[in-house]
Amino acid sequence: MNTPFQNALSQLERATKLVSFPADFLKRIAQPNRQIRVSLPVNMDNGTLNIYEGYRVQFNNARGPYKGGIRFHQDTDMEEVKALAFWMTLKCAVANIPMGGGKGGVTVNPKELSETELEALSRAWMRSLVDVVGPQKDVPAPDVNTTPEIMAWMADEYAKRTGDTTGAVITGKPLEAGGSQGRATATAQGGFYVFEALKEKLGLPEVCKVVIQGFGNAGEHAADIWTKAGHKLVATSDSKAAIRNPEGLDVLALYEHKKATGSVAGFAGGETFERDELLYQECDVLIPAALENQIREDNVDRLRAHIVLELANGPTTPEADDRLFARGIAVIPDILANAGGVTVSTFEWEQNVKHEHWSEEDVFAKLKSIMHQEAQLIFHRSQDLHTDLRRAAFVIALERLEQAMKI
Ligand code: GLU
Repeated sequence: MNTPFQNALSQLERATKLVSFPADFLKRIAQPNRQIRVSLPVNMDNGTLNIYEGYRVQFNNARGPYKGGIRFHQDTDMEEVKALAFWMTLKCAVANIPMGGGKGGVTVNPKELSETELEALSRAWMRSLVDVVGPQKDVPAPDVNTTPEIMAWMADEYAKRTGDTTGAVITGKPLEAGGSQGRATATAQGGFYVFEALKEKLGLPEVCKVVIQGFGNAGEHAADIWTKAGHKLVATSDSKAAIRNPEGLDVLALYEHKKATGSVAGFAGGETFERDELLYQECDVLIPAALENQIREDNVDRLRAHIVLELANGPTTPEADDRLFARGIAVIPDILANAGGVTVSTFEWEQNVKHEHWSEEDVFAKLKSIMHQEAQLIFHRSQDLHTDLRRAAFVIALERLEQAMKI
């Protein structure tokens, strides 16, 4: 299987076959500006010392400070972080926000750490990278398995070491620590605005059957937002199991169950089934909201969805994209569908820098206008180019990046 970065480069190559770009620009955009690897020592509760490997990839800052989350996951490595940083570069250009692309990570299963150990690890990450991040240099945020609380620890560590207490160094903080209204739900909310903007164009019914892979940072809020808008969540999964109910799952009761037991498995309001089967459930909207490389050449033909909306980063491989396009299944690509998260992060950064506080209403109004506008633009470009939405999104992002790099 290709690595996420190989897939990312293949997406780049495919998009740039449709519209030509200067060769030097393409050379530069395919390589990160800087890749940093750090050792993070943590004194464990049992008295031993563990050293974790941490990363920051600063991919491109032509449009503004590097921007992107930090992932805590046992399978995370530099290659993955590099791909995620590349996608952040394109994503910020798609959303047309004044940010470049970066990403961070730590190879760790945070579920195996105590709260004290998790805090020590988070502070160690910031301490080790304090010279390379900063409000005008590189602004991290949450990603898979990282939370507002982790962002608060990191912001505090940065403030202690630099004296900068604005909080603008990192986004996705809790409200009490300078976070923005709406940030926690922004990724899912942005995806929903894109869905709304394209629903009719993609021939979706009034009430959609929705399947969500992943009940974490993005997926659980998506479940809430789509069902509150009158759609039906017919199946969802987490890292342990999947649950389905053709009549629609009761999302609130499912949250409570997951909070109490740690998984969706065994939820009384549905049937528990094998999590690998989740992607093949019949539905109108399939929302991958977990990890990369989920929809591949070897399983793509089993999908029974009308459209795919990528809240995860990189869930579909380039080969699977072609199969879906040939079958008339539209894929709303990650760099558009999940751009709501980084967009509201940028609002948070702006509020911190200007010492302002915006209402939730203002945040969502601004988010909605960006997502609707960029979704329409990408849809029309895909029609003009007779191509899929991913290639169209890449072309628009690359045009904006090329302009910025030229200037
Ligand atoms: N981790 C999120 C993403 O992949 C958000 C990044 C951010 O807010 O900077 O887009």
